[in-house]
Amino acid sequence: MDMMGLYVPTAYEGFGGGSLEFCLAIEQLSRICIGVSVSFAANALGAYPILLFGTDAQKQKYLPPIAQGQKYCAFGLTEANAGSDAGGIQTTAKLQGDRYILNGTKQWITNGGEADTYTIIAMSDKNKGARGASAFIVEKGFKGFSFGKKEKKLGIRCSTTRELVFQDCEVPKENILGREGLGFIVAMKTLDESRPGIGAQGVGLAQGALDEAVVYARTRHQFGKAIIANQAVQHMLADMATKTEAARVLVYTACRTLGAGEKEVSKISAMCKLFATDVAMEVTTNAVQILGGYGYMREYPVEKMMRDAKILQIYEGTNQIQRNVIGAALIKEYASMK
Ligand SMILES: Cc1cc2nc3c(=O)[nH]c(=O)nc-3n(C[C@H](O)[C@H](O)[C@H](O)COP(=O)(O)OP(=O)(O)OC[C@H]3O[C@@H](n4cnc5c(N)ncnc54)[C@H](O)[C@@H]3O)c2cc1C
Repeated sequence: MDMMGLYVPTAYEGFGGGSLEFCLAIEQLSRICIGVSVSFAANALGAYPILLFGTDAQKQKYLPPIAQGQKYCAFGLTEANAGSDAGGIQTTAKLQGDRYILNGTKQWITNGGEADTYTIIAMSDKNKGARGASAFIVEKGFKGFSFGKKEKKLGIRCSTTRELVFQDCEVPKENILGREGLGFIVAMKTLDESRPGIGAQGVGLAQGALDEAVVYARTRHQFGKAIIANQAVQHMLADMATKTEAARVLVYTACRTLGAGEKEVSKISAMCKLFATDVAMEVTTNAVQILGGYGYMREYPVEKMMRDAKILQIYEGTNQIQRNVIGAALIKEYASMK
């Protein structure tokens, strides 16, 4: 269906779409399964650094097989002791001759082991703090690159989450993205670009749960009438539908802002991720409530939806971190106003 190349320019054999087309696809996949949609979305998360910071030679080499769905991608930033505080990463990259030597371990990487192409953030100069990080394209099969165990999770179980292990891993010098010291900018710009996709996951999941809840409430009878005839149930559904629609509008607005090439996108990107994923958690929880005991059982999909919703508030920056991003943007915006 050409979906893997939706956001890749036609010059690199993609479909040439933007953030909105990409998020519409994620939204539809997410109505049914967040595990599938995150496998799709994390592919783009791994490809965005190449799209945003790659040289033409890097783009020509890596993007066409990604766009054509022949190669799969992942993004490695998080480590055991560096989650929200990404500045604390310990993986190192030392230049030796014509290659960088990477050492360290990345934790909880979506598509880890399944992907062929990885964008990895590592410290090329620890003394420079955040300015000492660099981003690299690492291929599966590079000497010294291996994978840890597949994690067992509360939800999104069809999505693989693995450790990436670098033991004197040899990466050709030309696989650096941008230049040395640009690693955190690569990571932050990538997350600005990808967070609406997580928002779209929230919108799709909330819509899927709402659909299930309305259908059930129309057919389940108690006290001689359908439970949807109770105003209390209707009001729950009304709030679920309203919040889902509001989340959708915010995600599409973020996509249009990105598509317009605006420079300051961190705030709207964080806002839509925060709002839509909190809505998804609330709506899926209420869908379970509307289905009552059946909602808690595996024979209906809403218990899975509720388990899946939780991860949306955690990955690509927890919702507390999104609030920090929004707060920081507000401080900057209002600094010039006296
Ligand atoms: C299933 C899954 C898939 C993932 N996929 C990827 C991936 O593909 N690539 C990748 O690089 N990473 C990935 N991650 C990592 C994910 O992005 C991190 O888990 C997330 O950023 C949070 O980091 P942490 O888990 O270490 O939590 P911590 O940073 O330890 O935070 C713990 C709690 O403290 C709060 N907290 C921490 N600092 C602050 C603060 N300054 N202000 C307010 N509250 C704060 C957090 O909000 C959270 O509630 C994945 C994680 C999971 C679980």
